[in-house]
Amino acid sequence: MDSILESEGMHYEGNCIRPPSEAYSILLQVTLGCSHNQCTFCGTYKDKRFRIKDDQIILSDILFASKYMRRQDRVFLMDGDALIIPQKRLMWILERIKEHLPWVKRVGTYANTKSIHMKSDQELVELRERGLSKIYLGVETGDDEVRKKIHKGTSTQHCLEMGKKVKDAGMELVVMVLLGIAGKERSLVHARATGELLSAMDPSYVAALTVILIPGTPLWEEHEKGDFEMPDEQGLLLEMKEMISHTHLSNGIFASNHASNYLPVKVHLPEGKQEAMDRIDAALRGEIGLKPEWMRAF
Ligand code: SF4
Repeated sequence: MDSILESEGMHYEGNCIRPPSEAYSILLQVTLGCSHNQCTFCGTYKDKRFRIKDDQIILSDILFASKYMRRQDRVFLMDGDALIIPQKRLMWILERIKEHLPWVKRVGTYANTKSIHMKSDQELVELRERGLSKIYLGVETGDDEVRKKIHKGTSTQHCLEMGKKVKDAGMELVVMVLLGIAGKERSLVHARATGELLSAMDPSYVAALTVILIPGTPLWEEHEKGDFEMPDEQGLLLEMKEMISHTHLSNGIFASNHASNYLPVKVHLPEGKQEAMDRIDAALRGEIGLKPEWMRAF
């Protein structure tokens, strides 16, 4: 066991992703893959069978970070949904972070509605008190018809309730939505329904991403068969505009600065809505260049 604990490197396995805002965080991989792993557009963890990593491996990575990552004061727990880890074990991980990385100010993780549902209100509060204070929730759409089609697994209403549960625990809620996921036909219905869901959830940050068709995923196959058509670039801009116009946040950011998007927008709402509209209109008129296809990435 000593050799694992004295390892001179992090034990990353497979494809690892994190939100753009966690670029400078200590990336601690505590699970492999995603416990849901059924969304039709997502190819991120298709190569991984979900499991929680061994405690000794996790501890080894924390100890490695304690030696070599002393200037990074945030931790991001990977992979897909570390919140699914049973409470006792997750508390143990957070306690080891506090013990060995005392300079860390915040721990964040991806979560899904299932993993949030599995924690009691009190458990979420305990996790927040141990440092887990930021939850990234992939909502994708507020349109139930689309949610069903993409195998998101839960309803818009459940999503709303889980978002509220996170906020009630005093955690920061970041919500991801997906432009293009409803296809061309339902684009604006999805935009409006998603804006309405975002308004009801009222997160502190909305990150809009744009679908990239990944070979091997069910959505890619639908597209190949002609059953799914992505909106074109103009259509995606109109979709984002419609979504923002229906999004009423009391005090939050709407951003489309993820690498998958054609047009980066980042505004504080409510006051930045007109600025976002103006920027999208300028792009629609061709006055602002869009990101070339080869530069887009998930
Ligand atoms: S989108 Fe999120 S919840 Fe869905 S399969 Fe991918 S990682 Fe899992």
